[in-house]
Amino acid sequence: MSNYIDSLLADLKVKNPGEETFLQAATEVLKSIEPLIEREDKYKKYNIVERIVVPERALTFRVVYENDKGVPCVHTGYRVEFNSALGPYKGGIRFHPSVHLGILKFLGFEQIFKNSLTGLNMGGAKGGANFDPKGKSDGEIMRFCQSFMLELHRLISDVTDVPAGDIGVGGREIGYMFGMYKKLTRRFDGCLTGKGLSWGGSLARTEATGYGSVYFANEMLAKVKKELKGLTCVVSGAGNVAIYTCEKLYEFGAKPVAVSDSTGYIYDEEGIDVALLKELKEVKRVGLAEYKKTRKKAKFTAVKEYPKGRNGVWDIPCDAAFPSATQNELNLEDIKVLYKNGCRLVCEGANMPSTAEAIDFMLSKKDFLFGPAKAANAGGVATSGLEMAQNASMTSWSFAEVDEKLHNIMRNIYNTAYETSEEFGCKGNLVVGANIAGFRKVADAMIDQGYNL
Ligand code: NAP
Repeated sequence: MSNYIDSLLADLKVKNPGEETFLQAATEVLKSIEPLIEREDKYKKYNIVERIVVPERALTFRVVYENDKGVPCVHTGYRVEFNSALGPYKGGIRFHPSVHLGILKFLGFEQIFKNSLTGLNMGGAKGGANFDPKGKSDGEIMRFCQSFMLELHRLISDVTDVPAGDIGVGGREIGYMFGMYKKLTRRFDGCLTGKGLSWGGSLARTEATGYGSVYFANEMLAKVKKELKGLTCVVSGAGNVAIYTCEKLYEFGAKPVAVSDSTGYIYDEEGIDVALLKELKEVKRVGLAEYKKTRKKAKFTAVKEYPKGRNGVWDIPCDAAFPSATQNELNLEDIKVLYKNGCRLVCEGANMPSTAEAIDFMLSKKDFLFGPAKAANAGGVATSGLEMAQNASMTSWSFAEVDEKLHNIMRNIYNTAYETSEEFGCKGNLVVGANIAGFRKVADAMIDQGYNL
């Protein structure tokens, strides 16, 4: 690594103490863009890297809601507006007990480059609260979302900052937040994406991240003259991304045999029953152990039975793996087991699901294909961009139209990342390709727009 990048990273560690996931994400990006920084003086001249690692704005606020017992409960809400060089801030809202500023800085930082890769005009942001929606009643969820929006509405609108869903935030939560935004601002605009279909949502938004991830895997395989058809796949997670990854895998003739959640994983040798999964996770909102009640031959393994320091779902032999739950859920030991069992492709549906060591392992293998998150899971935000376009022009496109646009965007992202990897002498390394391509566009826009950004 050059002295320049080295000293920037050392400085970043001092200035962001304890924010390990943010430092992990920033380290990957900074190391990847080094060949570009060394090749073109302008990025150093304008201190672009020093500027891009600091959010333009970060709001922290108290969220108080009343639970069903009449007790006021307090949580911390956040919105990190990281970069607006390419367009309005854009990125999801996460409700999970693990949320803190460092996590949202990592997610917002990744979002800058992901959004750039989509080719649409969107800046990068992320928000959320350390609130656990699990086990809460509909009324509690509604009151929490309303209270969250009491502060968030000051930042967002169709042209300033447009949040979407993420872990713990789906259609229900977006609905409650949108209702409160409308009441507070007297505006009916596209301030959020992932809206209901009858009030400004886009067809195929729900499916987009999972579908997009499978389109991306298809492109990776096509490049080496292989296909998804006939492959056995393991998908982690059982939420929005995982469900629609499974659905699309079947359409390509592949078979997902395992999914996981925070309680454990299901192995269904005959193939995951996607309709049942949707019923359990989207309607009943229960743990995966329930899956076995309907599919008797399936096996449920609880988290407490996982090998120490490992994610048990990666023990299932497969040809391709789609980590689609959360960050750092696939470590070096996990990837070694996957590889030993014949897995030769990892396509990241979640944000930063693989640890740095696991990524190094995958990149070191000549016979392995690795699709990094900021490229492979960009389908969700890309379709959010398409929702914004439909809202702005007061039209709505058919499912097939949106899906076709999504497919084209994923193909373009793959080609951009691949071609950029070739341009910088590391053909096929999509980590370098995606990071440089994503960064270059944002950095050039920052230079064009002057120092205030
Ligand atoms: P989701 O619908 O809330 O589902 C998340 C799934 O992962 C759930 O099954 C959850 O288990 C599981 N999970 C979450 N945290 C976990 C943990 N610490 N350990 C084990 N399992 C865990 O969320 P999602 O929208 O699918 O998001 C999944 C990932 O994709 C996240 O990294 C997110 O940032 C990323 N992503 C999402 C989108 C999008 O459009 N939604 C777009 C790009 C990237 P339970 O069911 O037990 O809660």
